[in-house]
Amino acid sequence: MRYGMAIDTKKCVGCADCVVACQTENSVPHGYARDWIAETVSGRYPYLELEIRSERCNHCDNTPCVRTCPTGASHVIEGGIVIVTPEECIGCGACIESCPYDARFTHPDGYATKCTFCDHRVKNGQDPACVSVCPTHCMYFGDLDDPNSEVAKIVARRKWKVLAPEAGTQPQIYYLV
Ligand code: SF4
Ligand code: SF4
Ligand code: SF4
Repeated sequence: MRYGMAIDTKKCVGCADCVVACQTENSVPHGYARDWIAETVSGRYPYLELEIRSERCNHCDNTPCVRTCPTGASHVIEGGIVIVTPEECIGCGACIESCPYDARFTHPDGYATKCTFCDHRVKNGQDPACVSVCPTHCMYFGDLDDPNSEVAKIVARRKWKVLAPEAGTQPQIYYLV
């Protein structure tokens, strides 16, 4: 099993409902966020194109954040989900420095934290909170190893890109373009 996401950049309108849903679901402290909206403008005036992306930890297959963690607090669980065990984190920040996506932050209580792919919901058969609230249904979550899953089917059918492939982290969030 390999959990992943596909996010359709043609459908995302940047409403940030995903950000608010995550903050509520995961009791993210005020002023912090596990996911965010990124915008990229390309082309030359007047032929400009705006791409809007909902971004978060990419739950990479090749994880500098796990390798650099001196205590094992950062680790990979079933389905390739990358998480942090707060009780084992000493707050050294090595993982935060090593992530090419700036996907982690230090919780006010002193430990590193980030997107968990809502593993607490996923193990109960629910979609992550951000996926479940998106008004344009631009996010697909599921098992990439299952060719019959919606996420695997759309990744097979559509053109996609991953962010910063040159970093070699093998991200598991696919942006449909
Ligand atoms: Fe680690 Fe960053 Fe990849 Fe998430 S996006 S698994 S924090 S390297
Ligand atoms: Fe590991 Fe915590 Fe240090 Fe990150 S901040 S590398 S999770 S001990
Ligand atoms: Fe937040 Fe869960 Fe979405 Fe990750 S999967 S950004 S933790 S709501």
